[in-house]
Amino acid sequence: MEKRKFIKVIIIGLFSPLVSLQAFAQQIKKVIKSNTEWKEILTNHQFYILREEGTERPFTSSLNDEKRVGEYLCVGCKTPLFSSKMKYDSGTGWPSFFEHYPNVIATKLDFKLLIPRTEYHCAVCGGHQGHVFDDGPKPTGKRYCNNGASLTFAPKA
Ligand SMILES: [Zn+2]
Repeated sequence: MEKRKFIKVIIIGLFSPLVSLQAFAQQIKKVIKSNTEWKEILTNHQFYILREEGTERPFTSSLNDEKRVGEYLCVGCKTPLFSSKMKYDSGTGWPSFFEHYPNVIATKLDFKLLIPRTEYHCAVCGGHQGHVFDDGPKPTGKRYCNNGASLTFAPKA
């Protein structure tokens, strides 16, 4: 191999992971809207939960009892966050999941109650979804306790 070609191959090899990472970052394009724009597409209740980090009363969402096969999408930006295979009945009155799709959830600590809790939101639009706890079932041991109002269900056709 010619020396210049060899160097070119090395350089491409070094930078290709960066290129694919960049391509991935572009794939999850963030959805950014003003509060006025969000209010146009969300109900008052959805806005309170998604944009003001509210919590719905337990046993109020029809998604709590949803048993069909399908996907749960963020109601703000329609990104699929969970599948029906990740859902389980936690008995808490909120739709609960032990896992989520990769790269669609971001977390932060919430100090609203005395004990800090881990809040999580949609990584695409930043919409508040719920809190995650460590008392979930195997294999993850996680319980993603989600507001039903933050989700929309898409049954599998
Ligand atoms: Zn979203």
